[in-house]
Amino acid sequence: MPLTNAQYDQILHQYEERQRSRRREVESRRERVYKSIPDYRRLENETASLSVAQGKKLLAGDESALQSLRSSLADLREKRKRLLVAAGFSADYLEPPFVCPDCQDTGYRDGTKCHCFKQAEISLLYEQSGISEMLHHNNFSLLSYEYHTGEDLARFEKAVETCKDFVKNFDSDYHNLFFYGTVGTGKSFLSGCVAKELISTGHAVIYFSATGLFDLLSNVAFDSNSREERKSAYADLYQCDLLIIDDLGTELTNQFTASQLFSLLNERGIGKKAVIISTNLSLRELQDRYSDRIFSRITSNFKVCKLTGPDIRMYQKRQQSRK
Ligand SMILES: [Zn+2]
Repeated sequence: MPLTNAQYDQILHQYEERQRSRRREVESRRERVYKSIPDYRRLENETASLSVAQGKKLLAGDESALQSLRSSLADLREKRKRLLVAAGFSADYLEPPFVCPDCQDTGYRDGTKCHCFKQAEISLLYEQSGISEMLHHNNFSLLSYEYHTGEDLARFEKAVETCKDFVKNFDSDYHNLFFYGTVGTGKSFLSGCVAKELISTGHAVIYFSATGLFDLLSNVAFDSNSREERKSAYADLYQCDLLIIDDLGTELTNQFTASQLFSLLNERGIGKKAVIISTNLSLRELQDRYSDRIFSRITSNFKVCKLTGPDIRMYQKRQQSRK
């Protein structure tokens, strides 16, 4: 779906805010440095006037003068770094990190939108899908094996390995994942872990509960005013790097949803675009509920992981209430 002007402005404001807050950070770090290293400001002034001189020589085409200016500037840079380190700062203390080093928080790289801009668009457009909230609770930093035992644990460990491989080889191998099993065994958790990792490496990820996805699809199919609008909504779902459909089977299944699901899986398969599906349905229920062609597409094109065990969410709630 295309952004409205207001949404585009909203994203640009986020970038401006990032740049502003980084500038403030640089200023306050610089003040700290001036206080601890009295000579630092003088060296900076010297650098500034040499840079101006360098600009003039460059315009005049004076090559030999340029050479010597360049080496003086490099000396000054080294000197400043040494002073910083001697005073206990890091050498790059005055260059705090960017949120996105690839575009230096401008949102654009070589005249095109940076991956971070594309994910900001997706997050904004699909805010209702709740991906940010989901990633907050589901990511590898919260991974724990303490809730599973025995065979359940072995299955969970295998699924975690599968997810890590999926992330590691995402750009070179095309795979899909299918998690099934009873409620609260870690299926959505694992989808979230994968999503978080891939977003952080610049991939466009769309996350939907099955109910939310089919609501969107039916709105687009029946309510949208123009063909253009419809085409671009589909384009995101069909072309994003990873589509996650959580809780398949909780939607009202009918012919419309079944045919939409099939064409989504089919088109993404043709484009080698990955899908992760999680469901509480058993394989038998999946087969009964959806058409044979959907069932066979999933069983033949997806890595199937079965998860079993007690309901982790209930377990966590009990633990929290005991604290
Ligand atoms: Zn960026």
